[in-house]
Amino acid sequence: MPPVTVFTLGGTISARGADAARMTGREVLDALGAPRDTVLRDFRRVPSSSLTHADLADLAAEVRATVAAGSGAVVVQGTDTLEETAFLLDLLCTTERPVVVTGAMRRPDLPGADGPANLAAALAVATDPACRNLGVLVVLADEIHAARHARKTHTTSLTTFASPGAGPLGTVVEGEPRILLRPAAPTTPHLLALDPDVRVALVTLSLGDRGELLEAVDHRFQGLVVAALGAGHVPAPLAEPLARIAARVPVVLASRTGSGTTLTHTYRGPGSEHDLLRRGLIPAGPLDPAKARILLHALISAGATGPAGYDRPRITAAFTRLNGSGPL
Ligand code: ASP
Repeated sequence: MPPVTVFTLGGTISARGADAARMTGREVLDALGAPRDTVLRDFRRVPSSSLTHADLADLAAEVRATVAAGSGAVVVQGTDTLEETAFLLDLLCTTERPVVVTGAMRRPDLPGADGPANLAAALAVATDPACRNLGVLVVLADEIHAARHARKTHTTSLTTFASPGAGPLGTVVEGEPRILLRPAAPTTPHLLALDPDVRVALVTLSLGDRGELLEAVDHRFQGLVVAALGAGHVPAPLAEPLARIAARVPVVLASRTGSGTTLTHTYRGPGSEHDLLRRGLIPAGPLDPAKARILLHALISAGATGPAGYDRPRITAAFTRLNGSGPL
């Protein structure tokens, strides 16, 4: 069996009752019944809503070094931001070895706690050669999801993680991974970076929005993601303010619906997707707003913006690559 390093970050899977105090990484592994030879990295002990970009930059560096040294990696954290960690690792840690992110929905002290089963499944995936070259994976409830698709879709269900529009890559059956689908290509052809000081705003629009929050997207931000209505629509009066921001920094147009892709030329009136793309916005395609923000952050960190402006074709290509239509 290849070695596996487990990084514990906190979250429900390591909660001690309802107490905010978190178990140590060793207590977590013991409580979950992890094999004694599992290598532990007690990385952070926080609810995942309190993880920072600096934490994730450090995590990515350690995971990269771990897999380069020949170990598989399992990241154990809270489910609230699990999809963001997984997608970011997917952009920063391209490796043929499985890197798996897992967590739990039910506290260890509650009946039917799912942590032990989720960790066991994650370890099985991390050590299985058939799970190589799949990118970073999310494993919960015996399902194996690609990080680029996985989303938390329910506040309490044990099967909260889903891959809208794609489905899981496989399942874990009788403790063994079964891979049914493989991604056509890696999520990114070049390793990206994460500069924790880069600021990317995410603004969700809603009916009657007058754009006050867009006015707050000032020089503190190097990019903006708009979680727009439907397939990429905004109230007509916001088209011009968005175009002004897009003249300065990259603005990515994502959908707040939860699944499906943004359109490009089905609707053409003011505030439609066609109007906004013509004004310089970049389509997120099937990436949900939180993942679009991660990808834009990583592209900016990797040099897609500079004093002379931003590299719109490069940013557009990185998003197009993930929509299934562009060259891989
Ligand atoms: N609040 C928890 C967290 O994300 C929820 C969980 O772990 O499921 O840390």
